[in-house]
Amino acid sequence: MPLVTSKELLAKAKEEHFAIGAFNANNMEQVQAIVEVAQEERAPVILQVSQGAIRYAGLEYAAGLVKLAAASVDVPVVLHLDHGTSFEQNIQCLRAGFTSLMFDGSALPYEENVAITSRVCEIAHAVGIPVEAELGRVLQAKDASPEEVAAAMTDPEQAREFIARTGADSLAVAVGSVHAMRAQEAELDIERIEAIRARTGVPLVLHGSSGVREESIREAIAHGICKINVATYLNQAFVRGLREGLQKYPDEVDPRKFLALAKEYLKEAVREKIRLFGSAGKIGLAGWRSGPAQVRGARPRPAGAVEE
Ligand SMILES: [Zn+2]
Repeated sequence: MPLVTSKELLAKAKEEHFAIGAFNANNMEQVQAIVEVAQEERAPVILQVSQGAIRYAGLEYAAGLVKLAAASVDVPVVLHLDHGTSFEQNIQCLRAGFTSLMFDGSALPYEENVAITSRVCEIAHAVGIPVEAELGRVLQAKDASPEEVAAAMTDPEQAREFIARTGADSLAVAVGSVHAMRAQEAELDIERIEAIRARTGVPLVLHGSSGVREESIREAIAHGICKINVATYLNQAFVRGLREGLQKYPDEVDPRKFLALAKEYLKEAVREKIRLFGSAGKIGLAGWRSGPAQVRGARPRPAGAVEE
């Protein structure tokens, strides 16, 4: 089916206390693996394109791959920009057909984050596309001490004000995870998640999930996390498949042999996450809308507006 926006998927996830897997992909095999598992598991899925993926594959190429993959399945697929770096890049993604955006102004001074997020929201909302924003900072594992992670966490009261001022549709929160962690050791601050959920009312997004203990993930979902980004864990599985393939067939020169194995390993990692997040089997439930892309036009006409 055509791409859908993340708005209705996240609303459903919030209402039913599950989370949608937002999986990073960089090449054809990864895109195919993710949508194939979503189809097999009857799960809605978000495919996201990171800054690294844009540099590696190119924006149009990455978008094209995801659109083709979505058209080959009948479960809802979202094309999302991960950690959009600028106003301009977000608008370029709108034009390229993304159905979900992110502006990450978390490294900017607060007022600048508010200002740019608001501008992105105003334009994206005009064409029915939702925007994820970030407040607090999800740091990189290699350069974050426990003290720094704690200091960078999202402040619930500031989150309330931030959502009210920007109109962002979902919020990436810093609640104890860090990016690119290889071992599953981190514990999330569940009380903080609950406090942010209560004050903002929007679906919350967890970045850096690869390093979080499974029990902590389940609890976080119960308290308002509706979208969970996974990259490192998937990369590890893919590369494990490649390595094993190279060892197993030392004389093989057909790269498809290795890539097919890597894809199988990746599929199992995606399946594991989809089941952990509770999104398996969510398609086909009563009340789920599975029509064409829900990209709406202009805002509803205000009452009493003059017909043109
Ligand atoms: Zn992230």
